[in-house]
Amino acid sequence: MEKETCTFSFCAKPAVEEVETDLLLIGGGMACCGAAFEGARWANPKKIKITMVDKAATDRSGAVAMGLSAINTYMGENDPADYVKMVRNDLMGIIREDLVYDLGRHVDDSVQLFEEWGLPIWKMGDDGFSLDGFQAKDAGKVSLKDGGKPVRSGKWQIMINGESYKVIVAEAAKKALETNRAATGVKTNHYERVFIVKLYNDAKEPNRVAAAAGFSVRENKIYIFKAKAMVLAAGGAVNVFRPRSTQEGQGRAWYPVWNSGSGYALGLQAGAELTMMENRFVPARFKDGYGPVGAWFLFFKAKATNSLGEDYCAKPEALAEAKAKYGKYVDNLGTAIRNHLMMRDMKLGKGPILMRTDEAMAAINKTFKEKLGDKEGAKKVKHLEAEAWEDFLDMAIGQAGLWASKNVEPDKVPSEIMPTEPYLLGSHAGCAGFWCCGPDDLGAPEEWNKKWPAGNYNRQSTVKGLFMCGDICGASGHKFSSGSHAEGRIAAKNAIAFLLDNPNYTPTIKETADHLAAELYLPFEVYEKYKTYTTDTSTNPHYIKPKMLQTRLQKIADEYFGGISTWYMTSKTMLEEGLRLLQMLKEDTSKMAASNLHELMRCWENYHRILSVEAHARHILFREESRYPGYYYRGDFDLVDDANWKCFVNSKYDLATDKWEVKKVAYAQLVEDAAPVKH
Ligand SMILES: Cc1cc2nc3c(=O)[nH]c(=O)nc-3n(C[C@H](O)[C@H](O)[C@H](O)COP(=O)(O)OP(=O)(O)OC[C@H]3O[C@@H](n4cnc5c(N)ncnc54)[C@H](O)[C@@H]3O)c2cc1C
Repeated sequence: MEKETCTFSFCAKPAVEEVETDLLLIGGGMACCGAAFEGARWANPKKIKITMVDKAATDRSGAVAMGLSAINTYMGENDPADYVKMVRNDLMGIIREDLVYDLGRHVDDSVQLFEEWGLPIWKMGDDGFSLDGFQAKDAGKVSLKDGGKPVRSGKWQIMINGESYKVIVAEAAKKALETNRAATGVKTNHYERVFIVKLYNDAKEPNRVAAAAGFSVRENKIYIFKAKAMVLAAGGAVNVFRPRSTQEGQGRAWYPVWNSGSGYALGLQAGAELTMMENRFVPARFKDGYGPVGAWFLFFKAKATNSLGEDYCAKPEALAEAKAKYGKYVDNLGTAIRNHLMMRDMKLGKGPILMRTDEAMAAINKTFKEKLGDKEGAKKVKHLEAEAWEDFLDMAIGQAGLWASKNVEPDKVPSEIMPTEPYLLGSHAGCAGFWCCGPDDLGAPEEWNKKWPAGNYNRQSTVKGLFMCGDICGASGHKFSSGSHAEGRIAAKNAIAFLLDNPNYTPTIKETADHLAAELYLPFEVYEKYKTYTTDTSTNPHYIKPKMLQTRLQKIADEYFGGISTWYMTSKTMLEEGLRLLQMLKEDTSKMAASNLHELMRCWENYHRILSVEAHARHILFREESRYPGYYYRGDFDLVDDANWKCFVNSKYDLATDKWEVKKVAYAQLVEDAAPVKH
């Protein structure tokens, strides 16, 4: 088929706005909000211009949009070295310990700032019971910074009243951007509802990032941002694999549906090296509503069992069987291994798996009443129950609706949990992302910092001037919201240092504004050209609308790359066939069609998903073992093989040739092993 091009013969040409800036922040989530805040502190005195661009409204954009009820990374009394051990254990032994330690030593400052900016943080009351953030304030409890004791729901997590968490963090970022406008005289430096489609490298220096192009999702306008450096934090990827939700719940997923792999696709097209893209996250969450389980597990101490009431993580025969394949990694029962053991029982017909929410609440009731008496105990329980509901109303309101529709009262009956479809991310319990330069004071191999080809700047990717953080800085999961903010700050501070060290650079790109407009608006041209060919505009032999493109993508990923329909199982032959089909899908993207701006965004989101999952599949194909049982299995190598694969897998995409290079990179352990956990 002839390749389609856009000459604006059928669709209208958009207005073009060119923006010149020094540091461009792509994304407006936790990481870029941190980057804006920290960046402005160093940029303002030097009159360095910072610009932030977000596909949504920054107040409620990204994974924290609806709010959270816990900050999952706060060191407090803990040692960052122990944090490294926890992350290494959960991610099956392979992480960049320099990046993780670096995050651990900086993260608390971000959390303390959140409190200063107005985020209510739970504190321990004098009676040993917890006070929510507002009660703590009323009781005059001191701030974390001044030694206040947070309520911990786990070793690393602290409880918050977080329904406005993102708004608070965004406000500080917006204020910082305002100070940058005042310092530099720039009129506008915050662009919301602008979807970035592609990064462009410098015309003279091919391994240097120079520009980003995107379009407004509200008006017919494209933006070309020319920048001397960039911080990229456009989140991970959801809806790549067919979700468990079907027609009635289409669009429901655990991971926020607006993070569509742009973070990965933008960076890899610019030539940045990826690492650990074989990793994925398969959270076990309340079935169908994807409601969070963290507070139930950690705070309310609820237990999950199979339907016979057995603890599926404590069965000697299951543990022995897992150990025979996956070795020592089974001992500490990380997230992937727990998933594996849960699915084993499901496959044996012992499902549904149940979270014993009723028993947890009964136990709390009993303890509170014993300690406080009937009346006071009941009052405290009621308050806690309200908090538990708020947890869902904040983070996954659909779960509350679903429970209501199924007549489930979680304090009276248990609730079903289930592993979800896979997601690609690098800041929650996953580590898929880019290979980044680390700090040079932690004893890491010099190849990871001092000998970094693009220059020794912390969190710089292998592309000069392109910094990564949050979900897309690889091999360093468990940052969560606070860590992503802290990492954004690290990246921005180092990007400013890079700018100060490279003062004479002017970004130039080969492509003209007309060329970029034609590239971004091609789906409009295709649609307008052919839309009258059929009576139903959604079905047309000349083009593919986003819904169908996404369905095709999800089917390929699900069936060949180890999605839910094969119980996360794949193999060399399956991956190769899936990649063959994906290649054809990729070719068909030149026929993507959009009838409005919303569909234009959907087209490019899908394109980003395709590139992200291609990287994922290529990494799984290269790594001949099942490093993450419970997340995915290689049927042909169903073992963890430390002798051959205790290493990073890195890859690089060449946009010009559409070719991938995948390789092993040596792992280095910087923090000594933890003592084994006893069960
Ligand atoms: C379901 C879920 C529950 C979580 N629960 C907790 C919790 O309880 N506690 C905790 O501490 N952490 C939690 N986290 C982790 C935390 O939310 C993430 O670690 C953090 O948000 C990652 O920051 P980020 O900036 O990388 O991505 P995000 O915060 O997701 O931000 C991504 C940004 O990129 C923008 N963007 C995307 N594509 C484009 C594009 N093409 N052009 C322009 N902009 C774009 C988005 O609009 C958004 O602003 C949770 C995460 C998820 C997914």
